[in-house]
Amino acid sequence: MSVQSDLGDLKARLREARDISSSAAVLYWDQSTYMPTGGAAGRGRQLAVLSRLAHESATDPEIGRLLDRLAPYAESLPSEHDDAALIRVARHDYERVTRVPAEYSERAAKHASATYAAWVEARPKNDFATMRPMLETTLDLSREYAGFFPGYEHIADPLVDDADEGMTVARIRPVFDELRAGLTPLVARIAAADQVDDGPVRKHFPQAQQSTFAEKVIRSIGFDYERGRLDSTAHPFMTRFGHGDTRITTRTNEDFLAEQLFSTIHEAGHALYEQGTRAEDDGLPLGGGTSAGVHESQSRLWENIVGRSLGFWSHWYSTLQEEFPEQLGNVELRDFYAAVNRVEPSLIRTDADEVTYNLHVMIRFDLELQLLEGELAVADLPEAWHARYQSDLGVRAPDDRDGVLQDVHWYAGSIGGAFQCYTLGNIIGAQLYEAALRELPDIPEQIARGDTSSLLEWMSTNVYRVGRRLTPDQLIQRVCGGPLDAQPLLRRLTAKFEDLYAL
Ligand code: ZN
Repeated sequence: MSVQSDLGDLKARLREARDISSSAAVLYWDQSTYMPTGGAAGRGRQLAVLSRLAHESATDPEIGRLLDRLAPYAESLPSEHDDAALIRVARHDYERVTRVPAEYSERAAKHASATYAAWVEARPKNDFATMRPMLETTLDLSREYAGFFPGYEHIADPLVDDADEGMTVARIRPVFDELRAGLTPLVARIAAADQVDDGPVRKHFPQAQQSTFAEKVIRSIGFDYERGRLDSTAHPFMTRFGHGDTRITTRTNEDFLAEQLFSTIHEAGHALYEQGTRAEDDGLPLGGGTSAGVHESQSRLWENIVGRSLGFWSHWYSTLQEEFPEQLGNVELRDFYAAVNRVEPSLIRTDADEVTYNLHVMIRFDLELQLLEGELAVADLPEAWHARYQSDLGVRAPDDRDGVLQDVHWYAGSIGGAFQCYTLGNIIGAQLYEAALRELPDIPEQIARGDTSSLLEWMSTNVYRVGRRLTPDQLIQRVCGGPLDAQPLLRRLTAKFEDLYAL
């Protein structure tokens, strides 16, 4: 067998596995957008079949044999070579998926769906007691999962690696600690300042006009409607079926303008990343985002760094006022800008502002590490949650519903690996933006003229087209000239909110 025919065979097999997953993604998208409720039972069955086929395809021993045969070829190439990168990433994914026994995956999947179903009922009833034994099993399963990847330094590392390849607790923890140490005094200074009013965005804004405006905005920042769609759903997400088809979804609150607008920009940011990958990587593991954290860096960059900036609104505000003359005709630009950036320590992560958001995430990250380390028992989790909210945000939930039962993540499969990407995203987004400004200092002026094309082009060249050729660490090092660093985010938030709150 020649190297070229082995490589062709490997690519065909990887594409087939990806195509099965993408077909499942179409069904999942449909289930979350247009499927009538009567479709649920059949859809569950169809998704289970596709998930089994995708797993069989991805664990095909022939992939392992091809990777073994191609190893000497990969070693003979510079690591930057596309074939070397493809073989390295395919090897990484193949090891991840084959080291986990099928028996475990089935047991864990059953437990996850039972836990999720129980959580949907337990949360509104504020019933942690029902969830406690299930969460204990989830913790056992998460520890068992880590055991399939011996040699880790911290038991959460294999779980973190699944979402953010190469990241470890030892790398993340000091950066998060530095971020918290910088954010806490900023939150305190803001709390002591004159508060801003978000009344301007809490009026009645009919859905149709909100959608018209949001579509104009995402089209302007580069979302390609020829290769994507925007639809409505209960919990917004982005999904990719292929290089030519990336879907985003949003939801509307007619009494709060910020919800649909910023969640649409957020998901469009994820989509710009996918639409900006290389066509020739389609269906191969090199295409798509570098990691969950790097993906989140782009949704956050477009949502917050661009979308919540004064420059962005100095261009867009008059168009928004034309859409809503009664609601915003008499609201000054500066007051609108303040309203969409209001900071207030609150109980709910997904409603949190740009400054306090990361404090919510880091509480969860720390608690799940303590659970995995065996330093914290599930029984003590509700109180540990309240204690951290009190010390980090100065608020305390009246119950577990808005406390430990708040997020779906721990009730949908595993403890560990799901939260760090949100704060990594904010950190990396700020680092990438600083790097872009060093090369193109005019970007803020361009944004204020409604032109984000050079920022998009810079991100496409430096991040989107790279795909998974680099790990997150390698990407940050290459593009930003240094390691993961909380300082750019702290600098940006401090400057922005010192101005906004006249600190
Ligand atoms: Zn996101």
